[in-house]
Amino acid sequence: MKPAKFDYVSPSTVEAAIEALVASKGEGKLLAGGQSLLPLLNFRMARPSVLIDLNRIDGLSYIEDREDRIAIGALTRHSDLECSPLVASRLPVMAAAMRHVAHLAIRNRGTIGGSLSHADPAAELPMLSAFYNARISIQGPNGLRAVAAEEFFIDALTSCLEPDEMVVEAEFPILEHDGWAFEEIARRFGDFALASVALSVRRSGSSLEDARIAVMGVADTPLRLKEAERELVALTLDEQAPELFSEVVASKVLPNDDLHASGEYRTHLLKELSKRALRTALASKEHAA
Ligand SMILES: Cc1cc2nc3c(=O)[nH]c(=O)nc-3n(C[C@H](O)[C@H](O)[C@H](O)COP(=O)(O)OP(=O)(O)OC[C@H]3O[C@@H](n4cnc5c(N)ncnc54)[C@H](O)[C@@H]3O)c2cc1C
Repeated sequence: MKPAKFDYVSPSTVEAAIEALVASKGEGKLLAGGQSLLPLLNFRMARPSVLIDLNRIDGLSYIEDREDRIAIGALTRHSDLECSPLVASRLPVMAAAMRHVAHLAIRNRGTIGGSLSHADPAAELPMLSAFYNARISIQGPNGLRAVAAEEFFIDALTSCLEPDEMVVEAEFPILEHDGWAFEEIARRFGDFALASVALSVRRSGSSLEDARIAVMGVADTPLRLKEAERELVALTLDEQAPELFSEVVASKVLPNDDLHASGEYRTHLLKELSKRALRTALASKEHAA
């Protein structure tokens, strides 16, 4: 199908983009990489009166080291994150996850701002923002506000963005951990995930000092599992630990049945991926810091 008729503007500043959003009275749509929006237009599931193309705005594509966090501009492409040495050394779980995002052609166009705003519950960047506890900066007609990832995602394909607001940046705090893993299962490599587990740990002898866990594909939003993090830290790291950990993770989430998989199957995947993730994280020689 072809999209319904729309006007097109390509502002050169964030302020002009916000003005265009305000002028559209909730009927305008921002266009970033177009990898989610264009299919929606073609299927006429979205019929905006105006497309506001962000691609002529300078200064929204960057990956910046701010010592205890990495700041990423909204127009930064998925492939820039995948290939960035800074991301690889400071946000290794993100580096590992990015190759699971769709296919190379899509990663060359898709942006972090578009992915966060689209809020797909099986998308890697929303999950990574929950995992790292990212701070998402949002520009609107009344100025800039910042929201923690856990408050940003409201429901499947729904964020806390108002119709006249746009994401301009996300800041990812560095985890001072010494082992990590990202495990995902999709029907075919590059498809949206049926389930994923991100894990990062700091070891201390036969137990852990700290752990970070997030999952996706198993609920309407990505989830950071804070209770499971505390229970993992209380575990002794013996042969039973991966099995016990997988039970802990599965006990925190109750996936629904949908077109792609039953809830029961997703729980099975979650357990398997959690086991793999803990084994990999404990064997990992990589250092996040
Ligand atoms: C075949 C296929 C497979 C895919 N597989 C995956 C996958 O496995 N994992 C994954 O994570 N993604 C996947 N994607 C989605 C892809 O990652 C998209 O690039 C991403 O979801 C949207 O980014 P975009 O820049 O293309 O946004 P667009 O498509 O341009 O926009 C998406 C939405 O966000 C809004 N928007 C865009 N930028 C902003 C902003 N700065 N502030 C506020 N709103 C904004 C738009 O108005 C629109 O509503 C897939 C896409 C396709 C077509």
